[in-house]
Amino acid sequence: MGIRTGNEYISAIKSRQPEVWMGGERITDVYNHPVFQQPIKEIAKLYDLQHDPEYQDQITHVCSETGERANNSFLLPKSAEDIQARSRAFEVYARATFGLMGRTPDFLNTVVTNMAGNPEFLDKYHPDWSGNVISYYNYIKKNDLFLTHAIINPQNDRSKASYEQEDMFTHLGVVKETDDGLIVRGAKMLATLAPVTDEVIIYSFPGFAPGDERYALAFAVPVDTPGLKLICREQMQDGKRSLFDHPLASRFEEMDAVLAFDDVLVPWNRVFMYNNVEAGNLLYSKTGINQQPAHQSGVRGYVKLEFATEVACKLADSIGVDQYLNVQTDLGELVQNVETIRSLLRTAEREYETLPTGEVRPAAAPLETIRGMLPTMYPRAIEVMQIIGAGGLLMSPTGADFENEELRSHLDKYYGGRAGVSAEERVHIFKLAWDLCGEAFGQRLLQYERYYTGDPIRKRAIFYNQYKKKQTFSNVRDALKGSPPLKTRMTETN
Ligand SMILES: Cc1cc2nc3c(=O)[nH]c(=O)nc-3n(C[C@H](O)[C@H](O)[C@H](O)COP(=O)(O)OP(=O)(O)OC[C@H]3O[C@@H](n4cnc5c(N)ncnc54)[C@H](O)[C@@H]3O)c2cc1C
Repeated sequence: MGIRTGNEYISAIKSRQPEVWMGGERITDVYNHPVFQQPIKEIAKLYDLQHDPEYQDQITHVCSETGERANNSFLLPKSAEDIQARSRAFEVYARATFGLMGRTPDFLNTVVTNMAGNPEFLDKYHPDWSGNVISYYNYIKKNDLFLTHAIINPQNDRSKASYEQEDMFTHLGVVKETDDGLIVRGAKMLATLAPVTDEVIIYSFPGFAPGDERYALAFAVPVDTPGLKLICREQMQDGKRSLFDHPLASRFEEMDAVLAFDDVLVPWNRVFMYNNVEAGNLLYSKTGINQQPAHQSGVRGYVKLEFATEVACKLADSIGVDQYLNVQTDLGELVQNVETIRSLLRTAEREYETLPTGEVRPAAAPLETIRGMLPTMYPRAIEVMQIIGAGGLLMSPTGADFENEELRSHLDKYYGGRAGVSAEERVHIFKLAWDLCGEAFGQRLLQYERYYTGDPIRKRAIFYNQYKKKQTFSNVRDALKGSPPLKTRMTETN
């Protein structure tokens, strides 16, 4: 089949019956539910881009093995050109959603591509696992499927390991083996966009302790597998809000869900790893499922930060406050932040590393630096927006107010911006900003930037420890080398 169209993606969504729960109700028709309709359309647009003559060669390639087209996110990079091909695909997708949708299909494509592209690691532990991952990779590539993932245990008692929780199947674990596969029970979070995907993939961050064997597992199942419940968080829009009033929140909400597995059967051919704490802890580092997907996240984060910065600049310009030094300094800081992320990204892409297997990975240190900096840079962009927009952010009339003839002349007079900026234009810019810096939708986007790939605090600590391990501190040694030996030494008596 190869690359899907938007309509083919939508047909697949219509044909599935996942067990979706939201607001105390079971949603039986995901496609026609107002909360999901617009996000489904946004994802469908991404699939359509693969067929758009302007983008097709930028974001897809013809697979040499199958002769079919595939998204570049399915390309395991083997050269600098492949990295560029991927970067282009990530950027086209990110720009189509202003970087606001983090878990677009390209993200998990890169994860599965890397798991499948590094079979030696899984081969060390079990004869079937790498073959299962490779078959799965070929399957999702051939059918161009959309995956969600859940890699975190629910927040119960974080001071205890999974096996120490009050109920041993609070966190997702294996109940038993059967002839047909594994029976799994328990929960995993936080599966973004789950209700509108085709498949669910489960794996975990490292951190398993001896005793956690049953929880050290990786597998994939269709999203509508019997026994799998998708428990959604509260919606942040009802699907009926106007595009004028909520130009972003009405389009780009990514629903998040906890996945609860009630004795779900995972067929053997979908088991990628289980019952192995060591393999669970090494999965990330040995298959590169941190580094390659971090490239997608870096590109997307860059696009999102650039977008937020542009909104802040337009906000300031629309009411003429960017004449003031303090506002210029704040906006200049945001622009410099965007430049920092862009430069790190380009450095990662140019200073790539080549593995003995031939795989080429964007440099890890700049990607991790992006990861470390976005959790402060993005919230800063939001803060600057709030500071510049001030009271006006709360005082915007609605599109319906503008459509009221009796009010219109008042709105045109009292809501106009600096010379040349009409009331409608100014209010629209403020609404764009409010979606990002005031609405629950915007707060989720901020929280996403903090946590989308793990706890930034611990990630930075890991980064430092790895730096320390590799560092010889030769500059310090050299700087001290020239000092003449001391003639006298302090002794205990003086
Ligand atoms: C909007 C959004 C979308 C997401 N989408 C996805 C997704 O699609 N798929 C997915 O799998 N995950 C997703 N995530 C989840 C994300 O991976 C986690 O939020 C992230 O890994 C942090 O884990 P946690 O939320 O459980 O926080 P916790 O790990 O519980 O941390 C809570 C606080 O306690 C501190 N803390 C906890 N444990 C320790 C420790 N051992 N040492 C020191 N400090 C500690 C942390 O620093 C933090 O301040 C998403 C998260 C968000 C916010």
